[in-house]
Amino acid sequence: MVFVDHWVVHKFGGTSVADPSRYRHVAGIIANRPERLRAVVVSAMSGVTDTLVKVVEMAARRDRGYLDLLAQLRERHRIAVTELLPPTRADELLERIERDFTDVADVLHATWLLRSASDRAMDLLTGFGEVWSAQILAGHLEARGVPTVWMDAREVLVVRRSTSGVEVDWAASADRLRTWRSARPELPDTIVITGYVASTPDGLATTLGRNGSDFSASIFGALLEAEEIHIWTDVDGVMSANPRLVPDAVLLDELSYDEAMELAYFGARVIHPGTMAPAVTRAIPIFIRNTFKPENPGT
Ligand code: ASP
Ligand code: MG
Repeated sequence: MVFVDHWVVHKFGGTSVADPSRYRHVAGIIANRPERLRAVVVSAMSGVTDTLVKVVEMAARRDRGYLDLLAQLRERHRIAVTELLPPTRADELLERIERDFTDVADVLHATWLLRSASDRAMDLLTGFGEVWSAQILAGHLEARGVPTVWMDAREVLVVRRSTSGVEVDWAASADRLRTWRSARPELPDTIVITGYVASTPDGLATTLGRNGSDFSASIFGALLEAEEIHIWTDVDGVMSANPRLVPDAVLLDELSYDEAMELAYFGARVIHPGTMAPAVTRAIPIFIRNTFKPENPGT
């Protein structure tokens, strides 16, 4: 066993970290949590993954507009970093992000020359949003006096991707988590983990597929043997029916995994059943909660 302690995993999606004020809000939620050990899985800032996909596609069809989009993306991150981190820390992070943008620009230039985007280029580039977002949140938590370290999930999570989906290599991932952990003997109580990204067995950057951060939360819940997983989103929880069709639909306090799967089957906006599987196998309770109403218990 890697971590014998009692971890709680929290996942925040893109709308929860859309801009500096939302990052502050999320940091406030984390700082006020009662548990000692928390792993926070975070998505890219909202719209960033879409933009990254778009710039790759534009470069491949030789649309110069990709350069403007890239410049906007860089500026959006620069603003978030300078607003959320103290100056010296901000400079360090901006330097790292600048290096990433140089890589991104190089790959896009190659894409331009080749007039096509490889899957590898797409997998590498679309994951950067989470890499930046996790470092911004971790840096901001530190600035608020919450000792935090960030984890690049590409160093830990090993998956195989095939036409039938994503398969986690649990043994390899647990092994890498152990290595990551032992390189940090003084591990802070809060870890911010990149959602969505992973590595292939031979070490290439890959992703869990669009909207993969819930899956990341469930996987890290399993790897850390977490007590609970909280999915922080923009709805109050799970409703008994679609409130637009059924006016007296109510918010459910709780439901079983089976009931959740049934609701998902009928199209409810709960977590995707496949996404929950790692948590279900280990019977880890999943809480669906509203980032904007943290006092509500959710479902
Ligand atoms: N940022 C990724 C996406 O937009 C993953 C996620 O947010 O769950 O698909
Ligand atoms: Mg998203």
